[in-house]
Amino acid sequence: MDAFSPLPPAWTQTAIHGLQFCCPRCHGAASQAQKVWINRQSPVIGEDYRRRWQEFYHCDCEQVWWAWSSDRPPSDLTKKDSEANGI
Ligand SMILES: [Zn+2]
Repeated sequence: MDAFSPLPPAWTQTAIHGLQFCCPRCHGAASQAQKVWINRQSPVIGEDYRRRWQEFYHCDCEQVWWAWSSDRPPSDLTKKDSEANGI
């Protein structure tokens, strides 16, 4: 499974919004998800003019959820990513 595939995988169709950037059912972390798909095809411009997109996660508990990339809590990993991309 390619997280950056242009077409949404079938499992993303049942996704519900995880407002806390974790699984709404079991509060599992995004980093523990079995599958990930990032909707880079249709970014949305937020109120602060930064682009954001939907990230879909297939949790261990079979719940599928999504959250805005801009809601992702900062971590060492994403920090390194941003530096590498010059954002
Ligand atoms: Zn879960």
